[in-house]
Amino acid sequence: MSETVPIEAVTAHAFEIPTDGPDGKEQDGTLTWASTTIVVVEVTAGGRTGIGYTYTDAAAAQLISTKLADTVTGADALAPAAAWRTMQVELRNAGKPGIGSMAVSAVDIALWDLKAKLLQQPLYRLLPAFRDEVPIYGSGGFTNYPLSRLTEQVSEWAAAGLPRMKIKTSRDPESDPQRLTAVRAEAGDGVELFTDANGALTRKAALYWADRFAADWGVCWFEEPVSSDDKTGLRLVRDRGPAGLDVAAGEYGFQLPDFAALVDAVDCLQADVTRCGGITGLLQVSGLSEAHQIDLSGHCAPAVSAHAFCAAPHVRHLEYFHTHVRLEAMAFDGTLRPEGGALRPDPGRPGLGLDVKWPDLERYRV
Ligand SMILES: [Mg+2]
Repeated sequence: MSETVPIEAVTAHAFEIPTDGPDGKEQDGTLTWASTTIVVVEVTAGGRTGIGYTYTDAAAAQLISTKLADTVTGADALAPAAAWRTMQVELRNAGKPGIGSMAVSAVDIALWDLKAKLLQQPLYRLLPAFRDEVPIYGSGGFTNYPLSRLTEQVSEWAAAGLPRMKIKTSRDPESDPQRLTAVRAEAGDGVELFTDANGALTRKAALYWADRFAADWGVCWFEEPVSSDDKTGLRLVRDRGPAGLDVAAGEYGFQLPDFAALVDAVDCLQADVTRCGGITGLLQVSGLSEAHQIDLSGHCAPAVSAHAFCAAPHVRHLEYFHTHVRLEAMAFDGTLRPEGGALRPDPGRPGLGLDVKWPDLERYRV
């Protein structure tokens, strides 16, 4: 196919969906939330429609409508990276990091989904794929779960064959020993156990808990022990923490320099394809992690991450996050079920393999 395929329309929608947590809330070390907003983008060209999404405020849908839609309309649907560059320029004065980058990510993912559909390929096959499946870890374990819900979730992950699991910690550090003991007992010794403090701890508290997490419960992954704004603190915990405990961060990386600032502060870099500039941005982050010889782990949004991280040579795993697994099953037909501790994109479905369940989502529109 040598001719260009002009993009005809870009449309953004926002849906706010309540959590299924206790009293309608989910909680981690530093935040409590009652709902999650997904911004869904449709891009049409050549008789096909591409779908992209991000998790952010509904304001991103507005930003897409007012700033990005006209920029992308008329561009070549077979050249997503060129449209990505144009969007970055367009947002210069409106603000590229944060919501700006999440808006770009959702449009970029829709553009890649569209190109794959036009070429009748599953998205991961269109990308420079190093693999056809990505290992996953169960993620949830919110700090407001009672122990019964916590262990129930762990047993669901075990039943799904997940050999790696992550819980939120450090909201109330004194409660963590009881929570981790219950989780380890339910999961068994063979499961890799991860913790995520979401930046709740001071440097010295993080060092203390790093030692205890590893020694007492065999934890091997400590995510955002201190705030990701404190790169020196992350590096301190990485370098002085126990040898068997990897420090990870990167979920708030929006632009490539955000990741460049982290590569010498963590053992494993994280990236969220729905925040870091979509597929086009993630390919750049992947190159950065490769240059620094550190692994990359996918943050959240499993339905798109399963395709995107097939193109990351040093991917370690991606996050099978309870909130997004539940929401994506509500929003899309074609989401993937874990198989052998991994997500394997369907080679028989073009693009992301997702169909939006518009009638089911309508009641949540904002
Ligand atoms: Mg996290």
